[in-house]
Amino acid sequence: MPTTADLHAAYLHRTHATFDPREIRLSEVGQCPRRQTLRILGYPAEAPTDQQLAIFDTGHRIEDFVYRLWATRYPRRVLRQIRVKTPYGTGHIDLWVPPERKIVEVKSTTRARIADLPLDSHVDQLHMYQYYWGAQRRAVLELAYVVKETGEILPFQISYDVAHARQLVANLIAVQGAAEMTREPLPVPAEYTAFRYPCSWGAERCAFWTHCWGPDAVAPEGSGQEKVVVAVAASFAPDLAEYQTLRQQRSALLAQADTLKEHIEVLEEGFESFLAAQGATVLKAGPFRLRRTVVPGRVRYDARAALDAGVVTEADLAPFKKTGVGYTRWTVSQKRTQPQET
Ligand code: SF4
Repeated sequence: MPTTADLHAAYLHRTHATFDPREIRLSEVGQCPRRQTLRILGYPAEAPTDQQLAIFDTGHRIEDFVYRLWATRYPRRVLRQIRVKTPYGTGHIDLWVPPERKIVEVKSTTRARIADLPLDSHVDQLHMYQYYWGAQRRAVLELAYVVKETGEILPFQISYDVAHARQLVANLIAVQGAAEMTREPLPVPAEYTAFRYPCSWGAERCAFWTHCWGPDAVAPEGSGQEKVVVAVAASFAPDLAEYQTLRQQRSALLAQADTLKEHIEVLEEGFESFLAAQGATVLKAGPFRLRRTVVPGRVRYDARAALDAGVVTEADLAPFKKTGVGYTRWTVSQKRTQPQET
């Protein structure tokens, strides 16, 4: 007997299956061009989780809601899902409001992202709709963001820049060329790195991630106790370089903090001896007031010493045993390159 959650999951998978993975999507024109080519060429992608599908479906329900707002204003005159077919891909305009000559693209967002709105990729999507469909109808463009936490709607009127639209068309042509002529995915854009958006974000990552950042080889190295499994992935070199630099910067800052601590302790020793000589606990100097408070040390019991002295046994202590949470130690090193002989 299915639960409501089972019915929901089946609905989400049914809805998701209606998208044609082989078509170039105008909605993705401002996103990773390699991803479009991987999808069109049939490279396997990680299946979306039920949660991701549910988020996607929420977008449809939000679009329904915004449609009703416009349809109430202009009954039977608002059109939905206008198909925009171009030589380089297909798109679907969310809402077309003829009395206003307005294309409305509906998006959901979160409060945390409000400062980033409107997103470039959404503006790009509207540019394609305008270039191929709206310009000839003298359409105006609106991006309507619905904030999920509050339900408020943030509209953005988008200015159309035909030069930018032509640049985006060039991107579509590159995707089409890779999909239909070379049959090779476009390369990973130079500015992308494995652990930043759009390749990864939070605990999630792009469904095609392993095709871009997967290992070149995985093999054991060494023997006996020293044996380790090594994953070779040349594409991670920039990330490791950044990681090493960050660790070095952190070490330098910690060393600086140690020096500051030493200076602070020298001053505290001076204040302490001065106050002790006066029999005082508070020092006032100009606008400053410094109070000395002695905090007694915490009492602890040394279980190891008690065991060694034979006062208690391991069995006595067993009920009180607690194992600390482990941690991961990372060690980064860099192979020195030999200077080239001239
Ligand atoms: S992992 Fe990054 S480069 Fe690869 S397809 Fe996804 S977004 Fe594009």
